[in-house]
Amino acid sequence: MHRLAVGIDLGTTNSLVAARCGAGVETLPDEKGDHLLPSVVHYSAAEPALVGSEAKARLIDDSANTVSSVKRFLGKSLTELRRQNRHLPYEFDAARGDTAPAIVTAAGVKDPVQISADILRKLAERAEHCLKGSLEGAVITVPAYFNDAQRQQTRDAAQLAGLKVLRLLNEPTAAAVAYGLDSNDQGKVIVFDLGGGTFDVSLLSLQKGVFEVLATGGDTNLGGDDFDHILADWMRTQLSPGTEPVAVFNARLLQIANAAKHQLSSEDEVELSYGEWSACLNREKFATLASELISRTINTCRRVLRDASLSVEDVDNIVLVGGSTRMPVIREAIAEFFAKAPLSDIDPDKVVAIGAGIQADVLIGNKSADNFLLLDVNPLSLGIETMGELVEKIIPRNTTIPIVKAQEFTTFKDGQTVMSLHVVQGERELVADCRSLARFELRDIPAMVAGAAKIRVSFQVDADGLLSVTAEELSTGKKSEIQVKPSYGLDSSVISEMLQASHDNAQVDMEVRSIREAQLEARQLIDAISSARDVDGALLSENESDRIGNVIRKLETAMTEAGSNQIHALTEELNRVSGNFAAQRMDLHIREALRGESIGNVEET
Ligand code: ADP
Ligand code: MG
Repeated sequence: MHRLAVGIDLGTTNSLVAARCGAGVETLPDEKGDHLLPSVVHYSAAEPALVGSEAKARLIDDSANTVSSVKRFLGKSLTELRRQNRHLPYEFDAARGDTAPAIVTAAGVKDPVQISADILRKLAERAEHCLKGSLEGAVITVPAYFNDAQRQQTRDAAQLAGLKVLRLLNEPTAAAVAYGLDSNDQGKVIVFDLGGGTFDVSLLSLQKGVFEVLATGGDTNLGGDDFDHILADWMRTQLSPGTEPVAVFNARLLQIANAAKHQLSSEDEVELSYGEWSACLNREKFATLASELISRTINTCRRVLRDASLSVEDVDNIVLVGGSTRMPVIREAIAEFFAKAPLSDIDPDKVVAIGAGIQADVLIGNKSADNFLLLDVNPLSLGIETMGELVEKIIPRNTTIPIVKAQEFTTFKDGQTVMSLHVVQGERELVADCRSLARFELRDIPAMVAGAAKIRVSFQVDADGLLSVTAEELSTGKKSEIQVKPSYGLDSSVISEMLQASHDNAQVDMEVRSIREAQLEARQLIDAISSARDVDGALLSENESDRIGNVIRKLETAMTEAGSNQIHALTEELNRVSGNFAAQRMDLHIREALRGESIGNVEET
């Protein structure tokens, strides 16, 4: 029997649901024939929540109870929301604090998960109505840039809506599936997604029926709306606001600009007018005005190719996603850069939902999945804090997931029985420049000298991009584990900034890292010598003691103000001048051991 499963594109502006209908997978319409469900929810005291265009109609007259673009709220703190969206018309529930923002509505307090669940429920109802049966599962798409917190909240929303999540799928991967590119033997695919406010580029590789995401990039602050602003600015230079309030004037300019932009997608030139003023705008002029925006999209493509060490000739197909890819100027720029026309047969608004629907159909078991395995990539490196507040990357950015990777660590201090683990995400060398994901501890490590314990830390990222970290002390098998739970710390628009910052600071970061490492090495040696002097200081001649003290003082100074080379040189010198002392101590302890005292006991006094 045919089992019912749907693909859902839970979008910022609009959401869609798609499912197998006969031979193909299609997006499903509502009773009025609309496929796009505006991602807007209106709450009132008396009636159940309105979702979609009816809710959208209340945006102006009841803005405080009408939530739009809730996708931008997932996994965010209140501070981040306020920073990103200057004029939020909502009252946030003070009792929830900063980390879990929730909106006070006429129907009670609603958090982003509940609001997203209302949208998902509406889509599920539509699907059950169209398909005349009950759903067994859904594939829900998320932007490639979504972090763990955002992915987890998307899952939570589905669960709240009573949907079984078969899998979260990256939007670009879904788009490539919609074009059936997986049935090719092999090839490289660029997915170019330019929406209203965000831009994503993904590079996928297909090998023997297996999709793999090689690299992702983008700009969370670039979209079709910027083209509207450019046009509005151009009009503003030729106009004066007259008697209208500035806000109204600006809003009208944007409206005219948006309409003109859309018209230019089907016509060569448009007539713009405002009051007495009018002007003609052709595609060429529009391309000139928008040239900076267009180059930014192409530069991102270039960066993604570079990340994967590929060149434009390696790209076999380009898939277009998002309403803004209807702009001929964009299509032309893409065709020119890649020397190849992009694929555009499928409606760029529906392509993601259709791909998710195809994947859902496979996962629910209506089609053999043997030759259809999708892999994704993690967008930022995952790692662990080590001594000196440095980051050790365990899973580098753009690694294909699911993946498990492990690395051995050890204790830093003698007799250390607890190890604190700090899981971080980002590209920079210092913990302070990365994003903190989680902290946990491994306890009951048997007391040993520094560096003797073996602690294996493994990172596992599952197919949905969720992370579990395990730390295990190998001699006892003592384990500690953490699932990275939503840590509402990241502004997802910061991801591209993080990548840019790591690029800009690569040189400085490397030097900082080598200084920190040199400092650590020096600190360990100084500490070891100091505790040895406390125990066996008597073995030292005054002369020797002075020499060692001298080098330690010079090294201490160098550690605070010199570069890594000088610290290394002085550490070596300290090793040299204390070499004799170390040898004498060894002799002494061996003699003591032979007299029946264990070395360990001696070490501990
Ligand atoms: P999002 O993914 O951000 O929700 P969409 O993919 O729906 O956004 O794209 C919305 C953007 O697409 C808007 O900026 C809109 O102006 C633009 N757009 C839609 N249709 C056209 C068109 N025919 N020509 C140019 N831009 C278009
Ligand atoms: Mg989109």
